[in-house]
Amino acid sequence: MSGAGCAASCARSTPSPGRRLMPKNTTQLRRLWKAFECEEREMVLIPFGPDRIRVAPPTTQAFEALAAVMHHHGYHVRTQDTDSYNCRTITGGTGKSLHSYGIALDVNWETNPFLNHAGTRLVRFSDKDTQARRALDVRAGVADTDMTKAMIEDALRIRTRDGTRVFEWGGSWRDRKDCMHFEMDVSPAELAVGLDPASIVGLEEYLASLQGPGFEPPPIVAPTQPVTHDRHEVIARSGLRLRSGPSASSDVIRVVPPGTQLDVMARQDGWALVDFLGDGLADGFMSAAFLRPVGGVAPITVERGGEIVHAPGDITADVTPEIVARMFPHTRKANIVAHLPSVLAGLRECALGDRQMVLMALATIRAESEGFLPISEGISGFNTRHAPFDRYEPGTSAGNRIGNTQPGDGARFKGRGFVQLTGRDNYGRVGRQIGADLLRTPELANDGPLAGRILAQFLKNNERRVRAALAVDDLRTARKCVNGGAHGMDRFRNAYELGELAIPG
Ligand SMILES: [Zn+2]
Repeated sequence: MSGAGCAASCARSTPSPGRRLMPKNTTQLRRLWKAFECEEREMVLIPFGPDRIRVAPPTTQAFEALAAVMHHHGYHVRTQDTDSYNCRTITGGTGKSLHSYGIALDVNWETNPFLNHAGTRLVRFSDKDTQARRALDVRAGVADTDMTKAMIEDALRIRTRDGTRVFEWGGSWRDRKDCMHFEMDVSPAELAVGLDPASIVGLEEYLASLQGPGFEPPPIVAPTQPVTHDRHEVIARSGLRLRSGPSASSDVIRVVPPGTQLDVMARQDGWALVDFLGDGLADGFMSAAFLRPVGGVAPITVERGGEIVHAPGDITADVTPEIVARMFPHTRKANIVAHLPSVLAGLRECALGDRQMVLMALATIRAESEGFLPISEGISGFNTRHAPFDRYEPGTSAGNRIGNTQPGDGARFKGRGFVQLTGRDNYGRVGRQIGADLLRTPELANDGPLAGRILAQFLKNNERRVRAALAVDDLRTARKCVNGGAHGMDRFRNAYELGELAIPG
């Protein structure tokens, strides 16, 4: 990608030996895909193993086939150093990189670095039996890639129904190696005939893996319970005892530090029954005199004389595009500049402007839509069997789960925005909460200002579970509150950790 790595590389030179079809050169590909050049809003999001990538819509099936090959060969794709669309110029040249058209993908650039070597030679594969050991060979300088010859052969075997080879691999170039880099070697028209299923290994098993145990599909369902407004904060200077019963003689379960937030479920004789973990279950009793109402009742940002005053705890005024750019090392700064204000405004409106939730929101964007631009879900085997998004139609298991009831709901309420809002239920509920008619105009979910509010509202709906997880540094659980699966997890964690360094605490 984007990694400095492929920068110089995306111009091609000598075709690899033995290819049967004349490759298209970069100039031809730029012309063929001109309609997509830096058209970031045209890109769609599709699964790529544990990752989601942004690509030009005609290429979705091809990249899915590539993901299937990698899955078949047990090759692990890291979300943190894998990327696709990126509007940029080839380093040292004037033309656009093929990444600018959504037709190129860099996979695992940490272990498939760009090499501008002297002379010409073939790629050097490692003969080690695991990806980790092959990566060590790369580090030691005795191999160019942690990918295997067999996997690359399968990737280059992917054909259209007309027999046209689909991919070119940067490791095939003779005068330099760009093993992270795969690019389309076909035109949109050539792809339009579809892929030859016999040329793709492992497609069925790959699609099954996306829906297997541990993977919850993108539809995200807001909780049915509204956020309660009985949030309280511990104000006892030396902490407050959580007891097993409503009396000072009951056993002490633990001492809860001042500033801790919890929910009061019931009161009795000066004692409060509290939900400490935010899971809706009672954890014990505390003296109600040392609890002060917070959160849902009083917004932490208030307006005074037309001027926004940030209450204690709200850090949104300090979160600049420069700071956020450190959490998004591969993202166009212009997108951050354009969309950050609406994200922060949404967080303030929902009283989520504190550091913890700001980090959560930004890391979520990095995991879901790293381009910092609201985006549509692309067609993939995950959502499509015959017609686009027919796996989300009423009567299908996914369609039923996300509340789709009308024919056409599948495509109408496909994933959109920073959190990939999906399904009639979610569009309706979140739309009502933010005061936008997303049922009538679902495309609004990709609208800049609204997308920020949708993200914030979505976090608000999951606030208690998210906060409980973050309070114990359980980033995986926090992530799962937003997206049931673990996709984008390493990118999420990376952004969160970078943010902890970048955002003054
Ligand atoms: Zn590349």
